[in-house]
Amino acid sequence: MGRWERKDVPHKGWICVDYYDLHANGEVGYATCEMCNNERIRYIHIMRHESYAKELKVGCICAEKMADDYVGPKSREKLLKNRSIRRKNWLKRNWRQSSRGNDYLNVDGHNVTIFPDKNRAEHWKFKIDDDFSLKSYVEKNQAKIAAFDALMKKRE
Ligand SMILES: [Zn+2]
Repeated sequence: MGRWERKDVPHKGWICVDYYDLHANGEVGYATCEMCNNERIRYIHIMRHESYAKELKVGCICAEKMADDYVGPKSREKLLKNRSIRRKNWLKRNWRQSSRGNDYLNVDGHNVTIFPDKNRAEHWKFKIDDDFSLKSYVEKNQAKIAAFDALMKKRE
């Protein structure tokens, strides 16, 4: 049962500092919960404890026990699941073309534009309003997905 069996690891009093979907950005596969060693977690809750040096990446069930919170982790996981559905539909949305020939989308009061990276041939970047992506992407669709994730971050 991994860290649950260890006396040097606190069992309660953890707080969640961040959470994410492992499959965001097109990754596949699963992670291992650092608390119970369950090997099939996809929605990761990053937990921190004031008297433990390492942050632990854990699944929903462990996050609930560690924080003694049986509402928060489930609602975070639900949010990530909804986001995953929206992400799948994102590429199918009605992208339009700007006068420069760049794909763009106006969504929730933001303008999302995909454009070729001037400094790297055959790479794509995105911008949301006036915020430009730091990274560039080989596939245009990767840039679109990254734009989606950045948009979701803005909203949090
Ligand atoms: Zn676990």
